[in-house]
Amino acid sequence: MNLVLMGLPGAGKGTQAEKIVAKYKIPHISTGDMFRQAIAEGTELGMKAKSYMDQGALVPDEVTIGIVKDRLSKDDCKNGFLLDGFPRTVPQAEALEVLLSELGREINYVIHIEVDTSKLMERLTGRRICKSCGATYHMVFNPPKQEGVCDKCGGELYQRSDDNAETVGNRLDVNLKQTQPLLDFYSKKGYLRNINGDQDIDKVFSDIEQLLGGLSE
Ligand SMILES: [Zn+2]
Repeated sequence: MNLVLMGLPGAGKGTQAEKIVAKYKIPHISTGDMFRQAIAEGTELGMKAKSYMDQGALVPDEVTIGIVKDRLSKDDCKNGFLLDGFPRTVPQAEALEVLLSELGREINYVIHIEVDTSKLMERLTGRRICKSCGATYHMVFNPPKQEGVCDKCGGELYQRSDDNAETVGNRLDVNLKQTQPLLDFYSKKGYLRNINGDQDIDKVFSDIEQLLGGLSE
């Protein structure tokens, strides 16, 4: 099964990715891992990517796509793969179509884990950390007994600046704008499957299992 996984930050993509690769025995291919591997192996494309990354520049699509092609050609992808973090743009998605057809394969599904932005805000801004002992809490999912006070040591709880509403809101906005054209592209291709991510983790996964149950490989 050849899969692409999509979802905004906080939608639970990482958790579901782990469950999918464990059950279906396909490799989880994230962009970061793929680059690290190509660089560690010292491939020509890996070295090219490194030269851009060392300068703090974006790796150009042709290099990224070459690395994706090398990765998808490896033995462990024989029975399929779960792509995560690639493609990010419509040109990359178009290049992936070409690359897969060269490999004689095609995407079965693009699994999009969908959660309302307001719910994502609640998930992503709820974290609180103890100033004294570093214990973490969540205002909704794991609240302290007394607001603002650590259960373990009585220390004061604070919110990291990365977790404040403005930062999180901006991050979600940027992601939404980037993601929408890609969702439209895959919807037109007929690959897109929306999974309700606003349910408990096991229910989300059972919806995914139900979707994937129809695939023979
Ligand atoms: Zn504490």
